[in-house]
Amino acid sequence: MPNASLKIDHARYVVTLDPERRIIRDGTIFVEDGRIQRVGKAAELADARADRVIDGRLLLVTPGFVNGHMHISYAHPVRGIFPDACLQAYQDSGIRVVMGECVTDREAPWPLPRYATDEAATRTAAFIDRWDGRLDGRLTAWAMPFSYETCTAELLRALKQVVDQRGTSLTLHHNSGPRARKEAEARYGASPTAYLAALGVLGPNVVLAHALGLDDAEMDCLARTGTAVAMCPVTAAKGGRGIPEHGRMPELLGRGVKIALGCDSPNNSNHLDIVRAMNMAAIQYKDARQDMRQVPAETALEMATLTGAQAIGLGDTLGSIEPGKKADLVLFDTQRPEWQALHNPINNLVYNADGRSIHTVVVDGRVVVDAYRQSFVDEARLFEAVQEIGEQLQARTGITFPRSRWPIV
Ligand SMILES: [Zn+2]
Repeated sequence: MPNASLKIDHARYVVTLDPERRIIRDGTIFVEDGRIQRVGKAAELADARADRVIDGRLLLVTPGFVNGHMHISYAHPVRGIFPDACLQAYQDSGIRVVMGECVTDREAPWPLPRYATDEAATRTAAFIDRWDGRLDGRLTAWAMPFSYETCTAELLRALKQVVDQRGTSLTLHHNSGPRARKEAEARYGASPTAYLAALGVLGPNVVLAHALGLDDAEMDCLARTGTAVAMCPVTAAKGGRGIPEHGRMPELLGRGVKIALGCDSPNNSNHLDIVRAMNMAAIQYKDARQDMRQVPAETALEMATLTGAQAIGLGDTLGSIEPGKKADLVLFDTQRPEWQALHNPINNLVYNADGRSIHTVVVDGRVVVDAYRQSFVDEARLFEAVQEIGEQLQARTGITFPRSRWPIV
């Protein structure tokens, strides 16, 4: 159950992301019924009484982070059993989640869940009807066709209709670049983005994942249609995707396209740390353009919070610390070496810190990580189980994880 009321008192800094982008020193946040009721200087909220008070003197508070693109698994063989098991974990952990079932109806270079066109659309509609709004509204269900290359035009159109009718959203992988444009031109007579536009599969309830290699006309099209993107800077770097040639984050930001940051999946980035994704977003364009003014730390933080929430259609209720918004908050511990010396909190957060200094997490007004401890799983047992499952998987399938280049003796 959420705490009836919660006060985070005398926070060293509250990074509000409000319209003035105030950073409140010695700030206090008062939360009740899962919502932020008041935020301001501690002295202004001295009268606020709460069921629980967190001493914030060594803590920096940000809005909850938005991870805009993430795979639970590519695993084809687990379909049918996965949603229920995941849902239990989401329930127990108290996390907020947007989820969908990956569908395709064409050949793909990877083993993806493939259905007849009608079945893919019906499954998606049923998934959304079953799950959207569950977990006290913390779960939002979307349509998730894998990509325009792996889905027919009929399926993409049908899924857009499904989400339009239900007031929810759709996401798919989307990259372009000279080769993809050439192939799409030959096949559809249009660039990948113009193809989606012609199908009617763009708009404010569509999030394109990765979005590398777009040309000017494609970016104009995204801006015109209000389409959002989720960019995965660590995946791009680790996968050698060529940010100097294909990265368009500054141009998309310049056009006002809403960008969320994503961690993609452990397959592609090795970690699920949105603070490290912010760091990469802020540094990789400086290098790619040989220009230190590119993607300031503040912009990276906006993408990971407010702009990211707007990109996924939840900007009215999430993404900033303002009265009326849902109480999703992250409390960083500034009593750690990486936070010294603390002069500009945004710089410390984006360039110095990572997710390991997250001290406490609040979702919907409920403390789900409490002074580094979370209550929903026995971590030692979980780590053991994960190691064992990985080893069994290797033994059963004969598929080995990348071997160490150095001898392990
Ligand atoms: Zn992906």
